[in-house]
Amino acid sequence: MLKISDTLSEKKREFKPIEDGIVKIYVCGPTVYDLTHVGHARTYIAFDIIVRYLKYKGYRVKYVVNITDVEDKIIKKARELGISPFEVARMYEEDFFRVVEELNLLRADVYPRVTEHIKDIISVVGRLIDLGYAYVIDGDVYFRVRKFKDYGKLSKQKFEYMLAGARIEVDKRKEDPRDFALWKASKKDEPSWPSPWGPGRPGWHIECTVMALKHLGEQIDIHGGGADLIFPHHENEIAQSEAYTGKRPFSRFWLHTGLLTIGREKMSKSLYNIVPVVEFLKKHSADVLRFMVAQAHYRSQIDFSYEKIEELERALSRIYGTLERLRVTSMLRRVEEYKKDLEEEFLSKLKTMKKEFMDAMDDDFNTPGALSKIFEFIDYYERIVEKKEDSYIRSEHLRLAYYTMVELLREILGFKLEYEKLSRTTVQLLGILLEVREKLREKKMWSLSDAIRAELRKIGIEVRDTGYGPVWFYRPRLKAQR
Ligand code: AMP
Ligand code: ZN
Repeated sequence: MLKISDTLSEKKREFKPIEDGIVKIYVCGPTVYDLTHVGHARTYIAFDIIVRYLKYKGYRVKYVVNITDVEDKIIKKARELGISPFEVARMYEEDFFRVVEELNLLRADVYPRVTEHIKDIISVVGRLIDLGYAYVIDGDVYFRVRKFKDYGKLSKQKFEYMLAGARIEVDKRKEDPRDFALWKASKKDEPSWPSPWGPGRPGWHIECTVMALKHLGEQIDIHGGGADLIFPHHENEIAQSEAYTGKRPFSRFWLHTGLLTIGREKMSKSLYNIVPVVEFLKKHSADVLRFMVAQAHYRSQIDFSYEKIEELERALSRIYGTLERLRVTSMLRRVEEYKKDLEEEFLSKLKTMKKEFMDAMDDDFNTPGALSKIFEFIDYYERIVEKKEDSYIRSEHLRLAYYTMVELLREILGFKLEYEKLSRTTVQLLGILLEVREKLREKKMWSLSDAIRAELRKIGIEVRDTGYGPVWFYRPRLKAQR
């Protein structure tokens, strides 16, 4: 049974979609005015895993991610670059889609752009005015917060606090300092569209209400985004949507990802501390970024550092090495007799790994818990290998372990699993080389045998001398994507 925690009710509840078998999920996408950074990636990868898991469980997932392609920051950037806001938006949207591709993110069903929904936005804003939830002043339209009784229910903010936040830009014309813009009258040289209230452009919050309505319906199952969006963005989305439809809840579950920080500060375009994904991928793989995300719960904060990435690369190469050893040894001819007890133990550990992996995922998408189950299996397998006992397990069982791990890692967690593969010949030669090395050791020719080990280490093969003789482990050196 899948349980998901919800920011609104502050509870972990059983997940049941509105329509049987269908999950409607909306995730707030990028404002395209700069390069997509690893902080965005933290959020997108987390939701990618969530969507993958829902699909794995058999749900038909309707997944919408919006593109904010008209906004103050885009206009500002266009002025700096001396090009049009539309060109700015298209340029960075391209970068976003490149990231979607390279990070192996499942494509959403729709990526609606604000500029392609202006009519819909005008119609929703008009209706909010008719219902008394919005008012017009000098070509601007504001949402009347006081009329929406539950305002603040998501962020649980005190009225005074919201006032303090709103006061930063006091606008004396507003009825209440908390009222927020649904429609903004355009200033000179700004993009604008005709509307019943004069030329203008949409405010930021209204777009998500409109896109969710249009592409998913009046009520959705999951609404997601980074924790930075809880207030005011999602608070405002709830107010607009529930006021418009008269139905609640707008979303059954609110999921918020913990922010990615760097030097303990939020990674953000406006703080000039970003690591663009394209930069990151020049030296590191998409898998290690995904690993960083998956080893933390989606709601927890992640502090980014390259030291941490290098540490994660070592752990990741242990996963790859295990997969590779399972794959090639299952192809080699090994001992004739198989140990029944050992095989049974092996298969039971494998089954336990899969079951506990799913249990962890069912518990609010606990990816660190799920990963720890994979590592428990790897620990067990490496112990068998050290005792050279894996040769007593039938090929079909080794293959089953390989495919089970690939299923969990690739299908559910979304890893690309692109690493250097060992050929069968390489592994056979390695066996011969290790036999030669044993002869050298018998003759106490230590420096030669050590040199062999050192050379093998350079190509990612670790040799351990155990009570059962020498044993090899493969630790692929990780490659960047480009
Ligand atoms: P933006 O382009 O800033 O509007 O953000 C697009 C999405 O990425 C939103 O869901 C944000 O919450 C999320 N996001 C932005 N910065 C970060 C960060 N440093 N850590 C995690 N998520 C972020
Ligand atoms: Zn949004």
